Amino acid sequence: MVSGKNKKQTYDVIVVGGGHAGCEAASAAARMGAQTLMVTTSLDTIGLLACSPSFGGPGRGHLLREIDSLGALMPFVIDRTAIHFRHSGKDSPKWAPFAICDRLHYHRLLKNEIENIKNLTITQDTVEDISKNKKSWNLLSVAGQRFTAKTLVIAAGTFLKGRTKQNNASQKAGRNNEVSADALAKSLKGLGLKLGAFRTGTSPTAIIPETGFKEFDKQFFEKKPRYCSFVKPEKEPEQTETFKTFTGSKLLILLKDQQADKERGPRYCPSLIDKLQRFPEKKRHPVFIQPEGLDRREWFLNGLSMDLDNEIQQQIVGLVAGLEGAKIVRYGYSVSYYFLQESQLFETMECRENEGLFFAGQVTGSNGYEEAAATGIMAGINAALKACNKEAVQISSETSYMGVLARDLATKKLGEPYRMLLSRATNAHELRCDNADIRMMGVSGRLKLIDRKRLAQVKAKKVRIEEAVTGKTVSGLTPEDKREIATIRKIENYGLKSTNVKKLNEMAIPRTLDYSKIDVSKEAREKLNRFRPVTIEEAIRLNIPENTVKALALYLQRKAGQRENVSRETKK
Ligand SMILES: Cc1cc2nc3c(=O)[nH]c(=O)nc-3n(C[C@H](O)[C@H](O)[C@H](O)COP(=O)(O)OP(=O)(O)OC[C@H]3O[C@@H](n4cnc5c(N)ncnc54)[C@H](O)[C@@H]3O)c2cc1C
Repeated sequence: MVSGKNKKQTYDVIVVGGGHAGCEAASAAARMGAQTLMVTTSLDTIGLLACSPSFGGPGRGHLLREIDSLGALMPFVIDRTAIHFRHSGKDSPKWAPFAICDRLHYHRLLKNEIENIKNLTITQDTVEDISKNKKSWNLLSVAGQRFTAKTLVIAAGTFLKGRTKQNNASQKAGRNNEVSADALAKSLKGLGLKLGAFRTGTSPTAIIPETGFKEFDKQFFEKKPRYCSFVKPEKEPEQTETFKTFTGSKLLILLKDQQADKERGPRYCPSLIDKLQRFPEKKRHPVFIQPEGLDRREWFLNGLSMDLDNEIQQQIVGLVAGLEGAKIVRYGYSVSYYFLQESQLFETMECRENEGLFFAGQVTGSNGYEEAAATGIMAGINAALKACNKEAVQISSETSYMGVLARDLATKKLGEPYRMLLSRATNAHELRCDNADIRMMGVSGRLKLIDRKRLAQVKAKKVRIEEAVTGKTVSGLTPEDKREIATIRKIENYGLKSTNVKKLNEMAIPRTLDYSKIDVSKEAREKLNRFRPVTIEEAIRLNIPENTVKALALYLQRKAGQRENVSRETKK
């Protein structure tokens, strides 16, 4: 028998987890020059897309452009593995890229990128225990490896005490059949950290007979895609159509007695049962039929997230228009997991009570690939800075959705997994996809996260746009520049300058306001009644939709106008 004492391996930064957060954290730390180790349970699941193979859309697409401006991997990999690009919010501040990727190709290219990063070592293992002595963090793995680092990033996703549910059975797993990280959760608790439980779920995949596709609505791809990264891919992607269909009334009858889910799941990616119970008035719900890859017959049934018995799942699928003959090949399931409860992180993603310990991704209470990547890059940068005794960087919520994300995760009590929405920013019209590179230029330049050539290009773009907006004749404007200039002019015409937004934010809301008089959704009214915000800014922080905030502000403005008229009348 071979025996030997494992020698302690020393690094500047160690990242636990090779998901979307872990990959960006490790890549950012290594690119900043820190000797970095990424430990992850399986190299075959690096950057696995655990749910839909899609990225972007308003809010999340904005995050993609911002992290791209800091040299992230995710937007680069999406653009090179996408098989369908579609856009939303044409030529307005809401415009965002949206892409569906080939699931396997995405994982392979991301792994390849990770393998080629200078200063980055990767190892397949599971971390069981972490502890701190004076200046360093010590880690012990299942396989008996011992590591030490100046700073540590935990990016363990849905694995901390993960419990999956499918076909009426529960399993100790962080994802389908992947072992949960119970020992690490215990170790984190041992450091005095408070962990709460959230739940999320995913839809089944199926093989669909050719005849089914005749029943679906086609969703066409953009022939000239606008990419997730500012750096265009070397060649145009080969794309395919996707499809849309709907659930019908027979499904409502089948599921009318199903119990609501117990744990808190994501409001914006609800399970089928959640949707039926939250919107009983809706007679049908959309199902998006998304391809797994160009060479596969398996389709992801986005919109049918469920963890019911396999037989019921198959029955449900059979009741959806066009899916009558479809056969499920991977059943839907849900996972409940531990996350870090509120007020334990700084906006730098460092733990308040445990210096040198950073968190990123789903463990921070966020939900989604893009949110994970954004917190990953912030944690990676700051872990590297701390390891070199340099001051932390805090990304501002005034100038980016990344900052909004960091602020909310650090300061808000989360009632459900957090997803990025445009309405979470108070100045959404200023935080556009097309100007993300300019907005992030201060950080990317100072920390050298992008190369000199790219930085010079961003600087030149800024000058071109500023000059063109002031009316100067500028040559060499790109289509992107022209779009950005048109948007800036539109915003100026609407008078939506920051000063006006500031005034709007400070607008007072009477405590006794009767919300039934304002034309907003039932859900928003309930929230406003419950929390009774005293300013518009407070109302925005409740994450109510942008339209609701506008309706509320308009109502208050009208009321104030009426009062002014009355007082003028009485003065007369
Ligand atoms: C069932 C399911 C449904 C989902 N549904 C949605 C949805 O509807 N909408 C949405 O936006 N998002 C959804 N997600 C979430 C999405 O997958 C995550 O937000 C995203 O993957 C988070 O990235 P992450 O890097 O934080 O974690 P992950 O991608 O989960 O990566 C975590 C990594 O850490 C590794 N790891 C864990 N513990 C250890 C350890 N102790 N030692 C070493 N390595 C470890 C794991 O092996 C894994 O590689 C869903 C996820 C699941 C599992």
